[in-house]
Amino acid sequence: MPLSPQIYRSILDGLHEAVLVIDAEGYVCFSNARANVIFGDPLGENWRSSGDAQRQWLDHHLRPLNASETPLERLQAGQVLQAEELILVDGDHQNPRWVAVSGGPAPGQPAGGIVLTIQDISPYKHREAALLKQAFHDELTGLPNRSLFLDRVSHALARAQEHPGLLMALLFIDLDRFKVVNDNLGHGVGNQLLIELGSRLRAALRPEDTLARLGGDEFAVLIEDIPTGSSAIAIAEQLRSVVTQPFQLQAQDVYIDASIGIALGPGNYDSPDLWLRDADTAMYQIKDMPTQGWHIFDSSLQIQQDQRLQLEIGLRQALTKGELRLHYQPIVTISNQTITGFEALVRWQHPTRGLLPPVDFIPIAEETGLIIPLGWWVLEEACRQMQIWTSKYPAMAAFTVSVNMSSKQFTQPNLVQNVGEILSRTGFDPHRLKIEITEGVLIDNSDTIITILHQLKAMGIQLLVDDFGTGYSSLSYLHRFPFDCLKIDRSFIENADQDFEKLEILQSVVRLAWNLGLDVVAEGIETSKHYAQLKALRCELGQGYLFSRPLAPDAIEAMLVERLGHPLAVQPSPSVSTLQNSATPYADSPTTQLP
Ligand code: C2E
Ligand code: MG
Ligand code: MG
Repeated sequence: MPLSPQIYRSILDGLHEAVLVIDAEGYVCFSNARANVIFGDPLGENWRSSGDAQRQWLDHHLRPLNASETPLERLQAGQVLQAEELILVDGDHQNPRWVAVSGGPAPGQPAGGIVLTIQDISPYKHREAALLKQAFHDELTGLPNRSLFLDRVSHALARAQEHPGLLMALLFIDLDRFKVVNDNLGHGVGNQLLIELGSRLRAALRPEDTLARLGGDEFAVLIEDIPTGSSAIAIAEQLRSVVTQPFQLQAQDVYIDASIGIALGPGNYDSPDLWLRDADTAMYQIKDMPTQGWHIFDSSLQIQQDQRLQLEIGLRQALTKGELRLHYQPIVTISNQTITGFEALVRWQHPTRGLLPPVDFIPIAEETGLIIPLGWWVLEEACRQMQIWTSKYPAMAAFTVSVNMSSKQFTQPNLVQNVGEILSRTGFDPHRLKIEITEGVLIDNSDTIITILHQLKAMGIQLLVDDFGTGYSSLSYLHRFPFDCLKIDRSFIENADQDFEKLEILQSVVRLAWNLGLDVVAEGIETSKHYAQLKALRCELGQGYLFSRPLAPDAIEAMLVERLGHPLAVQPSPSVSTLQNSATPYADSPTTQLP
C-alpha cells in the first residue's frame, strides 16, 4: 500500500539527520524537523541568501570556507558529497558543531535542485578527541606523552629535510632526588610536584617548543629552531633554574634538581628514538660532573663541526673543574724599578690544548655571558692570592693588584655588593685593589656607570682606565669619571721610539693625565729604549716584558725570594724589590736585562 505524504513526512521528521531539498534558485523546498533544530527554527526560505550571514562553515583547522567551498555551492555546481566532516558555527562564531554533510542532485527536481543530509557528529568528535588525548597525553600533567613526543620529533626530522641548515635540540630532563620526595612524603605529594613542575617547565618554554613527560620523573623538550648550540645550553640552564626553585608541598619547601642531557640535531638522525637515546646518554654522563647539571652529547655531528661550541662547553666546564689560572705581571715604579704590585691576568689550563691566553677565550666568555662568573672568580682568586703573599712576605704588604673587569660585569645590578663580599671573604684591603676597565665600559653604560664607580671608589678601591688611546681616545670625558690612573695602550709605547708623532701623543697624554690628577701606567715596555723614553717623560709606572712577563704564582714567589732574600727576614724598603740588572729566570720567555 502506497504511503501517504503525511507518513513520509513523519518518517523524515523522525530521522536523526537533517534533510533538505533546495531548488536551483536556492529556495528550500523541503526541510525536516531535524534541519530546523540544526539550522534554527524556522529555517529561512531562501537559505542561500538569508542563511549565509547567520552561519559559517569551517574546515577541521577552524579555517572559514570561502563561498565557493561551502557544501551548498559545491552541490549546486554538481558535486556529490559523502559524509564530509565540517564545522558549522553561528554567524558570531558561537555554538560550533561538527557535522557530516552528504548530498547530490535531487531526484525529480529540475537541474540545479539538490538534496542534502547533515548529521550532527559533535558527540562522536568529542569522544574521539578525549581518546586521542588519552592516547597521546600524560594523564597526570596533561603534557604530551612519549608517543606524541616521538611523533613530533619525526615531524621535526622531516621538516629538517626540507629546510637544511636548521639546528634543533632535544633535551632529556631527569629529576634528581625525586625518589626521596616520593619515599618520604608519599606518592600524592610526588604527583603534586610533577604537576607543578610540568607547568613551570611549560611556562619557561616558547609555545612552539614541545614539552613532554616521558614517564616517572623524566621529561623531554624538543626545540625545532635554535640559532646556535649555545642557545641549547642557555635553555637547559633556564629549565634547570626552574626545577631548583623550591616547591611548597605540605607546608614545607621541597628542593629537587635535574640533570639535562642535550643532543643537537637533526645531524644524521633518521629515527626519533636514536635522537632521544643520545640525549638520554648525555644525561647519564652528567653523573660524572654533578655540579654542572647539563651535558651535550658530544659525538654528535654538530659539536664536532662547531669549534666555537666546543670551546664554550669546555669553558663552562673549566669554571666548574677549576682549570682557570691567574698569572701575575709585575708593575714597577719607572724611576727606580721597584715593584709596586701586579696585574692579574687570566689563563686557561686546557685539558688537551695546554695553557691558553685570554685572547683565545675571553671573547667567547664575553659573548656567552660566562665572563660574569669568570670575572668573579678572577677577583676572588687575586685577592686570595695577595692575602697569602701578604702574610708570607712582609715586603709585599703594600703591593697592589690590578684586576680587569669587562663591560658585561658592569651590567650586573649587584656588582658593588659582590665586590664588597669578595673583599670581606678574603680579608684583602680595598686600598690595594685596582680595577681596570676599558673606555668601552664608559661609553656603553655611562649613565649608570658613574654611580657604580663612585661606590667602588668610596670603598677605597682605585680605578684605572685600561688600553687608553685605543677606544675613544678622548681625555675630555675622563673628568666625569672618578679615575685614579690611566694605562696607556701598548701601541703608543711600541712605536714611540721610531714614530715621532706617537712620541708626541704619548707626551701630551702624560701631561694631560697629570693635569687631571691621574697617575699614568705605561704598558708593553719591551726595550730599554722604551724604558728610557718613559723615564724621560716622567711616567710613574710601567709594565712590560722588559721587567717581567706575566708569571704563575710560584714563579712570582721564586722571583721575589731571589730578589728579597729570605722573605720573612726582609722588611719592605723602596729598593729591595728592584728588578734592575737582575734576570728573571722564571719567566715563560726570557726577560730582557736593563742596560
Ligand atoms: P690587558 O689588560 O691590557 O693586559 C695586558 C696584556 O698585555 C697582557 O696580555 C700582557 O701579557 C700583555 N703584555 C704585558 N707586557 C707586554 C709587553 O711588554 N709586550 C707585549 N707584547 N705584551 C705585553 P694577556 O695576558 O694576553 O691579556 C690580554 C688581555 O686579556 C688583557 O689585556 C685583558 O684585556 C684581557 N684579560 C686578561 N685577564 C682578564 C681577566 O681576568 N678579565 C678580563 N675581563 N679580561 C682579562
Ligand atoms: Mg689590563
Ligand atoms: Mg691593557
